[in-house]
Amino acid sequence: MAINKEVFQAISDELKGNGVTLVAVSKTKPAADILELYELGQRDFGENYVQELVDKAAQLPADIRWHFIGHLQSNKVKFIAPFVHLVHGVDSLKLLQEINKQALKQDKVIDCLLQVYIAKEETKFGLDETELAAVMAYLANDQPLKNIRIRGFMGMASFSDNPEQVRAEFRQLRKFFDQYKSDSSPVLQVDTLSMGMSGDYKIAIQEGSNMVRIGSLLFGERTRPV
Ligand SMILES: *Cc1c(COP(=O)(O)O)cnc(C)c1O
Repeated sequence: MAINKEVFQAISDELKGNGVTLVAVSKTKPAADILELYELGQRDFGENYVQELVDKAAQLPADIRWHFIGHLQSNKVKFIAPFVHLVHGVDSLKLLQEINKQALKQDKVIDCLLQVYIAKEETKFGLDETELAAVMAYLANDQPLKNIRIRGFMGMASFSDNPEQVRAEFRQLRKFFDQYKSDSSPVLQVDTLSMGMSGDYKIAIQEGSNMVRIGSLLFGERTRPV
């Protein structure tokens, strides 16, 4: 299915007006669809699966900024380390250490977002408040990981019909962002708050998001479950 250009243009303009970065989530969609958005000027794309991302990156223009937004397994970091722009879903120190190791091999610094658990549902990945504080304290202390940089936080709200529930969850993540955004060191440079998807991005922006991850609104519903 082709992408919806009018919807893309409207969302893109709306976000630019608000200073919000649009990550077009292209998982399960063909490279041809990505190219259509690319030709309209979109450069940030998000993928959830390592193999799919590696395959698409090889076929598509080199100036695309690839965001890894899925659950990353430590043993797969090496495949995306050479080219990934931002890793959104970091939810453990072990994973962060592996990203650091692979970034060092590439002689680069990889930007990461810590995924924070804000939803009511039990199925979502992410650090809770205590774990987040522990990771941030570890990173702040003696800067043990020199090849990663924490740029902020990512979160997913509950799939809820109740906008006030969703709003409260985003507000929680915004609170963490405000708490840490003045921290600055080579390892901590918190300026990115990745929250909001097709169904809730407007609420996310009202609550302070500056990066949204939108898939189905742009590319159409996915047929393959994710
Ligand atoms: C699939 C996915 C999205 C996009 O979801 P849509 O509802 O299609 O906009 C955003 N973030 C993450 C982490 C995803 O897995």
